[in-house]
Amino acid sequence: MTCLACGSTATRHWATAKDVEYCSTPESFDYLRCADCDALSISPVPRGRLGEIYPDTYYSFSPGKLSVAERIKQALDRRTFAKLFGGVAGDQLSALDVGGGAGWLLTQAKAVEPRLAHTQVVDIDGSAQDAARTAGHDFFLGRIEDFETDARFDVILMLNLIEHVDDPVAVLAKVRGLLKPGGRVLVKTPNHDSLDARLFREHSWGGLHAPRHWVVFTPESFRKAAAKASLAVERLSLTQGAPFWAVSALEWLSRKGAVSIRRDRPMCDHPLFGPLLAIFGGIDLIRGRFQRTSQMFVELRAT
Ligand SMILES: [Zn+2]
Repeated sequence: MTCLACGSTATRHWATAKDVEYCSTPESFDYLRCADCDALSISPVPRGRLGEIYPDTYYSFSPGKLSVAERIKQALDRRTFAKLFGGVAGDQLSALDVGGGAGWLLTQAKAVEPRLAHTQVVDIDGSAQDAARTAGHDFFLGRIEDFETDARFDVILMLNLIEHVDDPVAVLAKVRGLLKPGGRVLVKTPNHDSLDARLFREHSWGGLHAPRHWVVFTPESFRKAAAKASLAVERLSLTQGAPFWAVSALEWLSRKGAVSIRRDRPMCDHPLFGPLLAIFGGIDLIRGRFQRTSQMFVELRAT
């Protein structure tokens, strides 16, 4: 019963959650909260069950179709990138996207950063390989832990990834070793110190993405984990957690008998999912001015 973020054994039960999004298994999964660093860890870690808990319908594996929400997200990403690359010196820059699929984020980055000359994707999804190469990105098929290269990167993107691993400090240390001097790592990950986490704690809160999120941080616990990997937080900003709200709200509606959820289709295919994303995106935009929201962007540099 150790904390995946800091190794402490001072953990206490926080929630029990089911896979309400993909129904990959009817089982319940326990999440523990660490008294030392405040991170949540799944326990036990379902390490040997990746094929089962990441079904073929899993969204990361189906690139190509862009929804309205994703297009809006893209516009935001361009702003984030402009800021991120603006802080890095050099005439020719290189970037790595860990878990980048077909490399569409790097393609976005190239559109706003003409100095970006070399782009690399590391992903476990073999079906993304051809599309990534066609788009001009180098592609390594496998986990970041197994990626060996002499190349070093000015910018490393690790969006919605660190919460899926069983040793986040080791992964952060790995990417730190791949950074050029002066380089930056951009991480996006859930934050459980937020209203939706508190409201839906007992009902498979969307941010747990159970059983696929193995460790869920707060800004403070993430800062500690990064420091262990010799990375310092340059900038941390909370951002809207609409996907987590939408999952939790749909689960609530189905629990109340107001809507029916098909168990053979991912929850994000439900006709109400898109409208709920838009509603909660708007709510979080306002709420985010005075309260913590449930996703964060963290920009890191080597110490
Ligand atoms: Zn801990």
